[in-house]
Amino acid sequence: MNTPTKYLKLSGLEPLVITPESNFVNVGERTNVAGSKKFLRLINEGKFAEALDIARNQVEGGAQILDVNMDDGLLDGRESMIKFLNLIASEPDIARVPIMIDSSRWEILEAGLQVVQGKSVVNSISLKNGEAEFIEQAKIIKRYGAAVIVMAFDEVSQADNYQRRIEIAERSYRILVDKVDFPPEDIIFDLNIFPVATGMEEHRRNAIDFIEATRWVRENLPFVSVSGGVSNVSFSFRGNDTVREAMHSVFLYHAIKAGMNMGIVNPTMLEVYDEIPSELLELVEDVILDRRDDATERLLDYSEKVKSVKKEKTEDLSWREQPLQERITHSLVKGIDRFIEEDMAAALQEATRPLDVIEINLMTGMSVVGDLFGSGKMFLPQVVKSARVMKRAVAYLEPFIEAEKDATKPSNGKILLATVKGDVHDIGKNIVGVVLACNNYEIIDLGVMVPCEKIIQTAIEEKVDIIGLSGLITPSLDEMEYVASELDRQNLDFPLLIGGATTSKAHTAVKIAPKYKNTVVHGGDASRTVNIVNSLLSPDKSSDYKKELKAEYAEFREKFLARQTDKEYISIEEARQKRFKIDWKNERIIPPKKLGITVIEDQDFRELLPFVDWSPFFRSWDLHGRFPNILNDEKVGEQARELWADAQIILNRILDEKLLKAKAVFGLFPANSNDRDDIIVDKDGEKFVFRTLRQQLKKSEGKEYFALSDFIAPEQSGVQDYIGAFAVTAGIGTDELVNYYKQKNDDYSTIMAKALADRFAEAFAEYLHWRVRKEYWGYASDENLTNDELIDEEYKGIRPAPGYPACPDHLERATIWELLKVKENTGIELMDAGLAMYPTAAVSGYYIGNPNAKYFGVGKIGNDQLRDYAERKGVDLDFATKWLRPNLIGR
Ligand code: SAH
Repeated sequence: MNTPTKYLKLSGLEPLVITPESNFVNVGERTNVAGSKKFLRLINEGKFAEALDIARNQVEGGAQILDVNMDDGLLDGRESMIKFLNLIASEPDIARVPIMIDSSRWEILEAGLQVVQGKSVVNSISLKNGEAEFIEQAKIIKRYGAAVIVMAFDEVSQADNYQRRIEIAERSYRILVDKVDFPPEDIIFDLNIFPVATGMEEHRRNAIDFIEATRWVRENLPFVSVSGGVSNVSFSFRGNDTVREAMHSVFLYHAIKAGMNMGIVNPTMLEVYDEIPSELLELVEDVILDRRDDATERLLDYSEKVKSVKKEKTEDLSWREQPLQERITHSLVKGIDRFIEEDMAAALQEATRPLDVIEINLMTGMSVVGDLFGSGKMFLPQVVKSARVMKRAVAYLEPFIEAEKDATKPSNGKILLATVKGDVHDIGKNIVGVVLACNNYEIIDLGVMVPCEKIIQTAIEEKVDIIGLSGLITPSLDEMEYVASELDRQNLDFPLLIGGATTSKAHTAVKIAPKYKNTVVHGGDASRTVNIVNSLLSPDKSSDYKKELKAEYAEFREKFLARQTDKEYISIEEARQKRFKIDWKNERIIPPKKLGITVIEDQDFRELLPFVDWSPFFRSWDLHGRFPNILNDEKVGEQARELWADAQIILNRILDEKLLKAKAVFGLFPANSNDRDDIIVDKDGEKFVFRTLRQQLKKSEGKEYFALSDFIAPEQSGVQDYIGAFAVTAGIGTDELVNYYKQKNDDYSTIMAKALADRFAEAFAEYLHWRVRKEYWGYASDENLTNDELIDEEYKGIRPAPGYPACPDHLERATIWELLKVKENTGIELMDAGLAMYPTAAVSGYYIGNPNAKYFGVGKIGNDQLRDYAERKGVDLDFATKWLRPNLIGR
């Protein structure tokens, strides 16, 4: 078929295209002075910033369009509309959604059209004042390129029955399409939702007539949409939220089926259709669909009953009536642990051996989980929740199994997991462990900072089937290469699985695989890892799979190396001559307001909350997308919302019970650079030196070769410059919190707690940097950035962190520790000579205030610089080589 597709296309900063496949589009109405008392008050008091927060909450809460209405007798509606829409336009997190300009006054609508950004919707026009005005307004709206809501209203009255609704809709449509040439896909009919169950005969068909009219309109008026304000329908049950929520859900369920594709709904006033208790569902459907004469009375009786009972979220427990295995599977799939012990007890009664309960009942359920995850129907957080149920079930069964002294529990295989020496990060590894355990693999988790010898010794003693290595920081890559070479030297044949944030297929293929004659494979995310492990250990596939892997990695390596055209370096002397130059004579250097060291003993977490960048939190659970959009993502939105809700529970505990503590130290000092790329810091006469590395890979003519020292005025310039350094943690107390959840066999909460601590550490770094810029150093006291702009680092100056590309030597962190007495002042320790920080939820780095400063990557360096660097640091060349590998060494 070749019919052109005419979809309603709206936009804020982002497009919203409404297709027949789109889900119901939810319009946020809290920014409506008629709908929200709070919003009215804020606008009346001129508190526009707070009013914007309401808009933001709406968008974060999932509103896909924002209805803005300023119709109030005491307000200058026109001016308020203009001001508010302009403010929204400067907030990208709000402005990303389209605006619905809502007013009963034309001048306000037109004023809104003049300032609104993107393709908006005008709410509304109608035939109320006759065709001439209707046509004129439609023409103007068309000229502004907006879509329009057309009320079912004509010269006589508002449509309040089926016949009148379709008659007015059809007439409006014909005028718009035939006389105004209005794009039909830009027409949205509001067919008037009126209350039912009011006790008046003539209101009985209010809902059903709307639904039927909707069906007619969608079938007979091509390309249009149908909308409405849903809460009206339950008006007569004000004060009884249980009934109202059920009414909204039932109404929407039927209206959406009939073609209503947009509407104003308060998401907190909705019950899940499937979860409405069956008795209430029937009574409500009787009312909405006008199925019985006494429908209203019966619903009223019921509502009297539930009114007195305090409202609890009603939960559908009908699955509890199913057979035992189904109940166990349901608990595992849904991650519900409330009934699992009860069901385990029942299963023990039926089983011949306690072990059968694990092997048959639980494994049956877990294989459903595995299949759903494997086919992308379940997401990582759910799987970890399932694992929690599994663990609790097994913990319950263990005494019975012990008693039977039959500990031979055949698993699919034994897998050793370890975070390598020098690294303390384990969120990813723990997730993989849990997911593999779900797939009936026995996991031997050696924890973090595990030396090579211990890994190999344990693997041999425990006769494991696979060794899995994990690491987050770049030096771990080096350590993994070392483990591979040791396995090779000792002629062992454990397949080696590589995982963790800095690892990659390229690094695995190019650097690790050549060191070990047996299988080496990069795991990727948790679901891929399960597939890899399955294949590696499958009796009939294993050897072919290993051969395939070898071939695949060899080919990958060759291609990769072939692409690496011979890199050319310039000498370090030349690179220094071609450094990034700042005209220091004309540079305005702002001395810090407060020099020296400042300690923050006990940072309030609530203050950090607005500074949290949530996107990486979802990423740590394999849910990819930018927050808050991810909450409405087509694919992972539902899961993201659930994860988000679960996170709030632990987050609130952390905040309310002060389970974690945050501390920081930072210092601002006079500093200058020298001609060997060092930054010399002066702390009350005592000198500390930050060693920086310079780019050396050949660039095109005229390009500069950066080192961080370029951003600090050189000694010879005679200009006094400054630098800062900082270390923050939000992880004090993580161990206790993690142990608490571990004891409860709750990996889900364990991982959640760690991930949250990490988020707060990053937020603390952001927050502290902000305060330093504005107060302590004060070079940006007039800065005014939103949270998103902070996350995008749009401020002046940088805070490079050792271990990152501009300053890749992790060991430089040790100088920050000495300079700021970080351990004494905050308790953050450096493990392994500076490679890692403990607690892990910690961030440290430098503050460089110069507006020219930017992030870059040093890239590979030549041997001449490496020698020079070793000499400057006073370490031997071997040592320097080892710590700067694998990223840095060229020739
Ligand atoms: N909002 C993120 C911030 C962390 S990553 C989060 O919450 O996870 C950004 C930080 O990494 C920067 O502030 C800087 O400290 C560091 N960084 C990024 N690129 C860098 C580079 N090229 N060299 C040095 N440090 C860098």
